[in-house]
Amino acid sequence: MSRAFRLVAASNRVGPVKGAAAAGGLAVGLVDALRERGGLWFGWSGHVAARGKARLRSEKEEGMTLSTLDLTQHELDGYYNGFCNNCLWPLLHFRIDLTQFERRQLETYRRVNWRFAQALAKQLRPDDLVWVHDFHLIPLGDELRRRGVRQRIGFFLHTPFPPTEILCTLPAHEELMRTLFAYDLIGFQTDEDVRRFQEHVRRAYGGSARGGAVSAFGREVRVGAFPIGIDVDQVHRYAFTSPGNREWSRMRRVLRGRDQFIGVDRLDYSKGLLRRMDAFGRYLERHPKAHGKVILLQVAPVSRGSLESYRDFRRELEGEAARINGRFARFDWTPVHYLNRALPRRTLAGLYRASRVGIVTPMRDGMNLVAKEYVAAQDPADPGVLVLSRFAGAAQQMDEALLVNPYDGEEIAGAMHQARDMRLAERRRRHEALMRGLRDYDVGRWRRDFVAALAEGPAWRRTARKPR
Ligand code: ADP
Repeated sequence: MSRAFRLVAASNRVGPVKGAAAAGGLAVGLVDALRERGGLWFGWSGHVAARGKARLRSEKEEGMTLSTLDLTQHELDGYYNGFCNNCLWPLLHFRIDLTQFERRQLETYRRVNWRFAQALAKQLRPDDLVWVHDFHLIPLGDELRRRGVRQRIGFFLHTPFPPTEILCTLPAHEELMRTLFAYDLIGFQTDEDVRRFQEHVRRAYGGSARGGAVSAFGREVRVGAFPIGIDVDQVHRYAFTSPGNREWSRMRRVLRGRDQFIGVDRLDYSKGLLRRMDAFGRYLERHPKAHGKVILLQVAPVSRGSLESYRDFRRELEGEAARINGRFARFDWTPVHYLNRALPRRTLAGLYRASRVGIVTPMRDGMNLVAKEYVAAQDPADPGVLVLSRFAGAAQQMDEALLVNPYDGEEIAGAMHQARDMRLAERRRRHEALMRGLRDYDVGRWRRDFVAALAEGPAWRRTARKPR
């Protein structure tokens, strides 16, 4: 990177900064980058304010500036609950059946992005590099350009990019996709996502794709895959020092020699929880000898609980867990343990370590960090085995996991058996290879690669022709 620049990140939610390590995911990656460069982090404050009372706040924390904007209830309903979570989220996860499009909500989404751009543009300096995150803010770059922003702006999509046939069911797809061409660089989680984006632009808009560049609507944008990673050493440390270590030994005592399978997911229909429960039932049915010796611990905190699709799903899942317990439990053994809340990351790390098998079977996932955390928390001398959905982005980097089709309960049940039975030598060989991959592309490399790619290469100003 030749020039010094300030990094500006925009995401739906801002922070936490102090507890970033505890929050995981995006926060871990961004906070380090922002701290390094005295950056600015911009987004929704998390507060709802009455109309006319929505405030823009700015505070300094650990050498960076946090700038946040309130939303009104109407905006929150239309933008976040509505267009983001009821329309874009299911669509991007290939769930046309759950996708609800309402033009009014799209308008609110556009309006919130417009307000965000208005507030952010004023704070930008000429040497800034702007990094916009995720599907909540697709039009933000375009709105910034309309305000005369000429700095480099990159966008990273944390979710999958769906096939063109699915995207084309969205009535406003062209309107939305066109705004992506205001960016200099668009980052995706995997090569598959890049390929689907290129194909969509070619087929739906008559655009063209050449190497790492995609052209349409009279503009060219660079694209690339930047798989998000984790802080490997930190997760490992969490698992082997207290309180994680304490949770691990407590769990071991509770298990009394039983093997634990663990699933850790937000309660979301994309995570494959129902099929996973069903697969566990099949596993128990096929392996009576495992009765009394295996438990499935599913940690699943409620997410987006105000949406009906999520409430229905939760009821179904609880029914399925109860059905398995009703069928197989004995007075001294309950096969499914279901925790309906978030746990501190250190506790989670201890639980991962205490679990013989990690079960990560989303029907579709941009990356899936739980898969990576489970592997990083294992004891290299006696590691557990990861069962992983082929349809998680992580599967493209994690060949040595037991890869399964998450729609196939029989296959998942078979992998549960294979994982539990696996000999130490094979477990170690697989774990070592997986760890190499995790270290090679960790969260630090993810953000360094993205920021370097954005800073280098041709800038928007020079490549862009007038939009149609
Ligand atoms: P998503 O971003 O769709 O929720 P990921 O697997 O990529 O899925 O990331 C989930 C993150 O949330 C992980 O870092 C994981 O540790 C954390 N997480 C998931 N479930 C829990 C839980 N019950 N308690 C605390 N953290 C959780």
